Amino acid sequence: MALTGIQIFKLLPKTNCKECGVPTCLAFAMNLASGKAELDSCPYVSEEARTQLSEASAPPIRPIVVGNGVRKATTGGETVQYRHEKTFYSPTLLAALVGSDIAAADLEAKLKDWNAFQYERVGLNLRPELVAVKDANGNADAFAAVAKQVAETSEFNVILITEDTDVMKAGVAACAFKRPLMYAATEANADAMGAIAKENDLPLAVKAASIDGLTALTEKLTGMGLKDLVLDPGSREPKQSHQDMIAIRRAALKNGNRAVGFPTIAFPCEMASNLDVETMIAAMYIAKYGGIVVLSDFAGESLFPLLLERLNIFTDPQRPMTVTEGIYPINNPDENSRVLVTTNFALTYFIVSGEIEASKVPTWLLIKDSEGLSVLTAWAAGKFAGDDVGMFVKKSGIIDKVKHQEIVIPGYAAAIVGDVEEELPGWTITVGPREAAHIPGFLRA
Ligand code: SF4
Repeated sequence: MALTGIQIFKLLPKTNCKECGVPTCLAFAMNLASGKAELDSCPYVSEEARTQLSEASAPPIRPIVVGNGVRKATTGGETVQYRHEKTFYSPTLLAALVGSDIAAADLEAKLKDWNAFQYERVGLNLRPELVAVKDANGNADAFAAVAKQVAETSEFNVILITEDTDVMKAGVAACAFKRPLMYAATEANADAMGAIAKENDLPLAVKAASIDGLTALTEKLTGMGLKDLVLDPGSREPKQSHQDMIAIRRAALKNGNRAVGFPTIAFPCEMASNLDVETMIAAMYIAKYGGIVVLSDFAGESLFPLLLERLNIFTDPQRPMTVTEGIYPINNPDENSRVLVTTNFALTYFIVSGEIEASKVPTWLLIKDSEGLSVLTAWAAGKFAGDDVGMFVKKSGIIDKVKHQEIVIPGYAAAIVGDVEEELPGWTITVGPREAAHIPGFLRA
């Protein structure tokens, strides 16, 4: 069970040295209890206290690492029921299904297509992580061959789907280096599946017909020394499955039930007869509370919106996405190129820089720290005031890069012209377009 702030305080050094960033050990203890601080921030915790506190401050839903390489990812590690309470940490992992009876050439073509599904958005590379290999006919060699081909010839990590322990052993032997997720231990095979997972140090999914059934199985498997489990409460009916996901999250977070303190796996691929419905069900799990979602295929028209939804749900709502303050050269600018200035809200940056790139006009883009606010909001909040912008232009170093003295400010910040002029005497301050879409025309004029 989680410790209270006072219980944590009793285990701290009580020197109030402030090295953790807060004035007192008591304040640190309170932050630790509410999940706002990390234990590692205090360098003076004794080993004995660290053991007790690590246990108590461990996330109520265990983070599980799946895979290896560039698409290695963590699922779980969540600490809140609702995103606005703090943030969700581990984006839902997306998988596509292949049967073990697929021909090698067909699989090669699929992997090539799937690998191309990568999208740049606000400076991030959005892409799916997993391929789920499902035993189609009990043929261990065929299962192993498909798992091996996915693991060795693609960046994708692997979920091995079979309840047959001999087939699972063959699959694990073929791709253990990719740290596959084994799916699934059931009431019938838990001992043998648990032994394979333990021997190979692999994460293991647990499947039961109900949450009660899951609890009994996870207690058995954790008793065998397994820690990295993933839960499948069994239902393939959307409403029941949705309720199960919520019940598991609540039991782990609100009741401190460690037997269900693991991420979940969901199978929209088994719950719909067409791509549209499957995509809607997958979208539901991204919002609540699928740790891994298995689709029947990756298709651009369903994958892209799911990746965007995932990006939005798993972005910290209390921390706007930002880019670093500084000078960004676009289209190889020189000393005669124009200088545009805007705020460091990531979306603003990527939209503005995208339009400048599209214009093909060499341009210097100055990004001023506005604490992640967009132009109008930053101006209204006093984070993009004229004197600030003027001082930033002076300090930015742009003066050494151009031989003219003109900057272009965003149309929505037209009101700051006078103050910028006062801060930058002798400079010409031009008001640019309000909408980013008009930037190319403005630059080319
Ligand atoms: S760093 Fe540790 S000892 Fe120092 S004030 Fe913070 S909690 Fe107390």
